[in-house]
Amino acid sequence: MSKDTCIFCKIAGGEIPATKVHEDDEVVAFRDLHPQAPVHVLVIPKTHVASLSGADAPLLGRLLQAAHAIAESEGIAASGYRVVTNTGAHGGQTVFHLHLHLLGGRPMAWPPG
Ligand code: 5GP
Ligand code: ZN
Repeated sequence: MSKDTCIFCKIAGGEIPATKVHEDDEVVAFRDLHPQAPVHVLVIPKTHVASLSGADAPLLGRLLQAAHAIAESEGIAASGYRVVTNTGAHGGQTVFHLHLHLLGGRPMAWPPG
């Protein structure tokens, strides 16, 4: 998926609407269209990075710190939450713009499906 047709680039740029819960100079976070838990937020870099393979350490740090800050603001930090990044075909990635899933508000099962 190229940057020009990338749905998450369009959400980051405001061309496609989304319910944003966080925005700073590098990171945007918005509610998943098909939530899998009471809280299901996607945390993405504003710049187009296809997956973990294209991300540098400072950016990954910013994404993870944002995920925890959003867990705090969503009220799930104390009860606990899960952060997942599906990568490639076997990982179940369907949108090829790097994103962290922040899931919480209910107990999570393990192992994942
Ligand atoms: P993946 O399958 O790549 O790990 O996750 C992609 C996620 O993006 C899915 O959970 C899917 O529900 C979500 N998603 C796909 N298109 C949109 C959209 O247009 N808006 C929002 N808010 N979420 C989307
Ligand atoms: Zn993109």
